[in-house]
Amino acid sequence: MEKTHSHQEARRLNMAYYFVNKHPQTNGDHEVHLTSCLYLPSEQNRLSLGDHLTCQSAVRKAKETYPKADGCKYCSPACHTS
Ligand SMILES: [Zn+2]
Repeated sequence: MEKTHSHQEARRLNMAYYFVNKHPQTNGDHEVHLTSCLYLPSEQNRLSLGDHLTCQSAVRKAKETYPKADGCKYCSPACHTS
């Protein structure tokens, strides 16, 4: 598969790498996190979403796998709705 951006290019564009938790919270939401988040799930419990310019874009990508995806309250408050 061809990558659209190199990692360096992604950084230049102010993109950030996101992950989604494979396991839902008690309310059924799968939380979307930044790589730098304190609450980032361990490697076996997270799914890579790739580089995104906004958390909205990352959540949209996560919803392809988990329809009930939502931004993390701590690292992506702009995308935290429930
Ligand atoms: Zn987070």
